[in-house]
Amino acid sequence: MEHVVVIGSGCAGWTAALYTARANLQPLVLTGAQPGGLLTTTTTVENFPGFPDGVDGYELMTRMQKQAERFGTRAQFGTVEAVDFSTRPFALTVDGERVEARAVIIATGASHRHLGLESEAKLETKGVTYCATCDGALPIFRNKPLVVVGGGDSACEEANYLTRFGSVVYLIHRRDQLRASKIMAERTLANPKIKPVWNSVVTEVLDVAQDKVTGVRVKHVKTGGQSVMDCAGVFVAIGHVPNTQLFKGRIAMDENGYIVPAKSAATNVPGVFVAGDCADHVYRQAITAAGMGCAAAIEAERFLAAQKG
Ligand code: NAP
Repeated sequence: MEHVVVIGSGCAGWTAALYTARANLQPLVLTGAQPGGLLTTTTTVENFPGFPDGVDGYELMTRMQKQAERFGTRAQFGTVEAVDFSTRPFALTVDGERVEARAVIIATGASHRHLGLESEAKLETKGVTYCATCDGALPIFRNKPLVVVGGGDSACEEANYLTRFGSVVYLIHRRDQLRASKIMAERTLANPKIKPVWNSVVTEVLDVAQDKVTGVRVKHVKTGGQSVMDCAGVFVAIGHVPNTQLFKGRIAMDENGYIVPAKSAATNVPGVFVAGDCADHVYRQAITAAGMGCAAAIEAERFLAAQKG
């Protein structure tokens, strides 16, 4: 039986592993389908303290993993399919196998939000994508007009990155002001290859009949006017949804699916703790997720020590 199982391998998960490993609890990290989490899909991370020149997101996560492993963390590639938190030890089903744990730290993070259009779903991987770093360099996007949807830091980051490849990048936002941080918004609006399209929403991705992206149908939210913009790719960057479906009905969460801790990092189930973006719709930063991972680990350690005594 495991002392501590950490579900998820983003900043929160690896930090929780680092701290529980250093407490001699030999944590098992279940990586999920995307080891390293969302940060592995970004380019340079400029706001993680300790890296004055920035650090590649993938590299940062690899370093976190190595640091956690140095103190006895074990990583297992796998997806948790079911959890039973009704009795202790807790039971998890991981790719068909049963894993038992005295304490669990949930650090499952969040996934990209989709627009919810039928055409978007049909053209996913055929020109519709959620990750410029992963897909931006594909030949189909080279020297072609590209569309980014969203107005937050992610959308701005994607748009700036895509200017390396596209002929022009249209940034389609539903309001007339960016939500992104000031520095990111200024950098984006100053880039001559980025053309903001304000007060507009994408109502259809074209062209399902051709089985590839040829453009988007756009509606102006104030006038209701519709237009078609030609493009070879649509990069959707409209925020995230927490990866908490698995815990529904077992762990307390809000109406949007974010886990609501009972106290600090403790959930409503004694022995189950939470950290990172799956419980944070406010800050959602690499550094805050790491801090939450640390807090969850310390609480898990105290919980286990109290059980022994
Ligand atoms: P976000 O800040 O929640 O922004 C989402 C954007 O998408 C908003 O502009 C929102 O519009 C728009 N949107 C949401 N739903 C939509 C819909 N159905 N249709 C059209 N537009 C929609 O998400 P994010 O940009 O992914 O950032 C998440 C967090 O990570 C933030 O805290 C951000 O600071 C952080 N982050 C930081 C960096 C960095 O510092 N380098 C990079 C990436 C992300 P409204 O503005 O109208 O709500």
